[in-house]
This record gives sequence, C-alpha cells and structure tokens, in this order.
Amino acid sequence: MNKIIEKAKFEHILSKDEIVQLLQDESINQELFKAADSLRKEFVGDEVHLRALIEFSNFCHCNCLYCGIRAENLCVDRYRLSSDQIIQLARQAYDFGYKTVVLQSGEDLAYKVDEMAQIISEIKKLDLALTLSIGERNFEDYKILKEAGADRFLLRIETTDKDLYMKMHPNADFENRKICLFNLKKLGYETGTGCLIGLPGQSLESLADDILFFKELDADMIGIGPLIPHPQTPLKNAENGSFELALKVMAITRLLLPDINIPATTAMETLNPNGRIMALQSGANVIMPNITAEDIRCKYEIYPNKANVNYKQLEAKLKQIGRQISSTKGYRKVRRSL
Ligand code: SAH
Repeated sequence: MNKIIEKAKFEHILSKDEIVQLLQDESINQELFKAADSLRKEFVGDEVHLRALIEFSNFCHCNCLYCGIRAENLCVDRYRLSSDQIIQLARQAYDFGYKTVVLQSGEDLAYKVDEMAQIISEIKKLDLALTLSIGERNFEDYKILKEAGADRFLLRIETTDKDLYMKMHPNADFENRKICLFNLKKLGYETGTGCLIGLPGQSLESLADDILFFKELDADMIGIGPLIPHPQTPLKNAENGSFELALKVMAITRLLLPDINIPATTAMETLNPNGRIMALQSGANVIMPNITAEDIRCKYEIYPNKANVNYKQLEAKLKQIGRQISSTKGYRKVRRSL
C-alpha cells in the first residue's frame, strides 16, 4: 500500500505536504478511494442517511462570484416560502419517512430570528432532526436557533485561502466565516462545512489547507463540491471543477475524520451521471434529496442542471452496492433522545 495512505488509514493524521502528494499523484486514486471506502464501512457502516433538502428562499444579499442566486443576478425570479409552507414541506418529508430536514436559503435577513425559531420549534414537534443552512449570523442568533431545537448547521468555508476567499466573496469577511463555524461548534450544533473544488486560482496546497481546517474544527459533516459555472455569474467562463479531484479531497477527508458524515454531493452527481454512487464508494455515507416543489426548485439555481434523486432508483442502486437507507437520524455521535 502507498505509505501515505497507509499512515492516514491508521493514524488519521497527515501533514500538508503529504496531502499535497496524494492530491498530485494520479496513480494512487483507486487505492485512495478503496481506503476511504473501507474506513467508511468500519466507522459509520453501510447505512446511507438521507437528508431532505428544503430550499425555502432564494433571496440573498451576498455576491459570491460563482453563485447563481447572488444579489447582482437580476435575472433570478426571487421567492420566499412562508412559515406555513416550510412547515408543511417538513411534514411531507416526515410522512415520507425522512429523519432529517435541511432548511437552506440564500442569506435572507427577511426571516427574523424569532420567525426562524418558531418554524424550527414547530418542525421539531415532529420526530425529525433539523439542519440549518442559512449563512452567517451572530452568536446570539445561532444560540436562539439552537435553543429552538436546531440540531445541525451547514456553512461551507468554501476555501481557506484568504486571498482567494476575498476575491470570490466581495465585501465578505473571511475571519467572520471562521468565527461563525467555531461559534456553531461551541453552541453544540453538529457543524458541517466544506469547500468548492476548482475555483479559479485555487491550488492543491490550498485544498490541503482546507482538509486540515476540517480537522482543526473537528467538523461533524463535510460537503465537497466541484464548481459548476453558472452562466449569469462573473465565473461563467470558468471551467468545471474536476470531479476526480473533488472525489480525492472527499476521500482524504474520510481518512482524516473517519467517523463524520460525508454527503455524496449533488454537484458531484451533476458532473458525472454515476457521481453519487462513486462518491458513496469512496468515503461518502449521506445523500441530500431535494424535496422542494419542482416549480420552486428551478428558481434556486446556484448552478445549472442540478441533479435530482429518484427515490426508487436510488434504493435499487444502493441495494446493488450493498448499502441500505438508514432508519435513524444519523447523528455523528450516538445521542440519547431527551
Ligand atoms: N446561503 C447558504 C447556502 C449556500 S448554497 C450559505 O451561505 O451557507 C450551498 C452551497 O452551494 C454553497 O456553500 C456553495 O459551496 C455551493 N455552490 C454555490 N454556487 C455553486 C456553483 N456554481 N457550483 C457548485 N457549487 C456551488
């Protein structure tokens, strides 16, 4: 076995230089994916956790250069679901058998923290885990939302390369994004983060730093997605991020954080028709099916041609590769219910 993969597999620690070597070396890819798959099996088992994604607003005050719903994209048909609509969707997810709902939106400050807290406490009357993905808020707001019942929070760091971060996110504050992540951890959220693969100017060294940051934060969930250029953004002429490289960053993350949750991301499936299954066989153990209604979903276009999940097909494909849909909430650590 490749010495670096072997070390990572048993010690779950690598230096930046060792990570860069793995990322550079194309000849070890299959061995890397196999090692990540075996650690996935050993630490989190064969169950695949489904998280039902609800995209409840595409209003956003940010201008991330890559994102289709950035504030300056005037072509976007903006929508906001009402509290009742969001709760109704969560109920549908519950009735269907999902164990987790993820409430995602642009950074939309129209939903005041008390309104969000109310939505959360209403949804938490159902037996569901609840994840938020609503961007940066202050410590107090995160605290109120946690106390209302939110269990998890997703906030990708996107890149840990500060210069690149500042180029990609005009008027955003890199240090604040990090502070948000550490605040979420402090408040007891299961904290998810992750990065984009293929931002213009991104180096393998910076991807190695991203992985080391995941470890430093002790993230509970990591989502890795290749960049998919959106035609109505400044990055419209950029190239697609590399699917293979995204898979490698994901696999190395599994080696270093063996017991966390790792989704096979929609962006991976969008770039490769078998991307989700390949990811599940290279370290991933989570899928996030989008349950937003079709006519609304198409307006939440962070990138074009977002892949869908066909539940029946997914179930069959999982069976073929010896995996089952989990019937638990899939926390990182087993928690006693209160
Ligand atoms: N407003 C929330 C949710 C953002 S959408 C937040 O700030 O966390 C979720 C993720 O989609 C982002 O974190 C980003 O990594 C990803 N994304 C956005 N545009 C993309 C694109 N063009 N290609 C691939 N992924 C993209």
